[in-house]
Amino acid sequence: MGKYSIAVFRGDGIGPEIMGPTLRVLERLCPDRFEWVDCPAGAAAYLDQGTDLPAASLDAARQADAILLSCLGDPAVRFPDGTEMTPQIDIRIALDLYAGVRPVRIVPGLRTPLADPGAVDFVLVRESTEGLFHTQGKGLVEADHAEETLRLTRKTTEKVCRFAFRLAEQRRAKGHPGRVTSVDKANVFRAFAFWREVFDGVAVDYPHLTADHAYVDAMALWMVTKPAAWDVMVTENMFGDILSDLGAGLMGGLGVAPSADIGDDHAVFQPCHGSAPDIAGRGIANPAAMILSAAMMLDWLGERHGDAAMTEAGARLTAAVDACLGAGETTGDLGGSLDTEGAAEAVLARL
Ligand code: NAD
Repeated sequence: MGKYSIAVFRGDGIGPEIMGPTLRVLERLCPDRFEWVDCPAGAAAYLDQGTDLPAASLDAARQADAILLSCLGDPAVRFPDGTEMTPQIDIRIALDLYAGVRPVRIVPGLRTPLADPGAVDFVLVRESTEGLFHTQGKGLVEADHAEETLRLTRKTTEKVCRFAFRLAEQRRAKGHPGRVTSVDKANVFRAFAFWREVFDGVAVDYPHLTADHAYVDAMALWMVTKPAAWDVMVTENMFGDILSDLGAGLMGGLGVAPSADIGDDHAVFQPCHGSAPDIAGRGIANPAAMILSAAMMLDWLGERHGDAAMTEAGARLTAAVDACLGAGETTGDLGGSLDTEGAAEAVLARL
């Protein structure tokens, strides 16, 4: 197999600090398999080029086999209307990355706020292109009221539900129960009754899997009280935005929470966290979420291209990061004593 071209968004704040070691780990793990294409974007690009997502970067992302993105944004750099730039959201829309994949796993030995969590290993699939983000940047604000609109289309709801069922099918082959839970608010909102009807329609095609429903408020409780009960859950954009940070909290913190945004033709792999301006420039950021996101990229490339070496490398990389986290070979945010480079070296040593 030849080389994969990877669009690399090093980003702002701690972004470049965690991306550098991640690329080094990938080069050592899979020598000569990648070609990196640097893509400026974010607050620094805005100050430099007057745009937070230069057309050349978006084009390069479109051409690449996969996209690795660290974190973008700087609270001190804003558009004239006072909002922050969010090119990572613009990329999701431009490339139709409708399935936000947020694995929630509690690695044994890792510090977590739960006293006795059990074997927690589920995946939250967040629809990432519509829902309450439909009017993002276009909401109506009057003197006495403000409005945003939640929009769900049948086409995208069906695609994201089908994605969740296919994921549960793949996980079942690895020993997971084969269950998909729709997380919605169908008791109150007609749009979510529509969501549920579409979900149930897709479920019919997967009679060998279990399909069930939960209301989002109850799920926020159950993710804390019985986190080991879940396999795959699928939900609307804003619900998923909130629940995925709850998931990151269960795992021990943002420093270990990876993610992928996947569409039919493209995929972005990035940590759940932001650019952490409070610790930027000190070399102490945890690279685990970025490295685990890179492992998800290897797995996705392996499946998409039938490339067993990539699939195996993804599994090895995840296992190496897990082993480091479980042994306390990590950064200060998780109670370890390593800096960013040291944490990445520990992963390499385990490999
Ligand atoms: P944040 O995720 O950057 O930071 C929240 C807290 O978590 C901070 O205390 C930070 O130090 C800590 N943290 C985050 N990542 C860490 C890591 N790898 N290692 C150790 N500690 C880590 O959230 P924020 O402060 O709300 O946002 C900062 C900037 O990031 C803002 O400009 C925001 O818009 C942007 N942002 C970008 C993304 C993205 O690129 N996907 C996501 C969220 C926020």
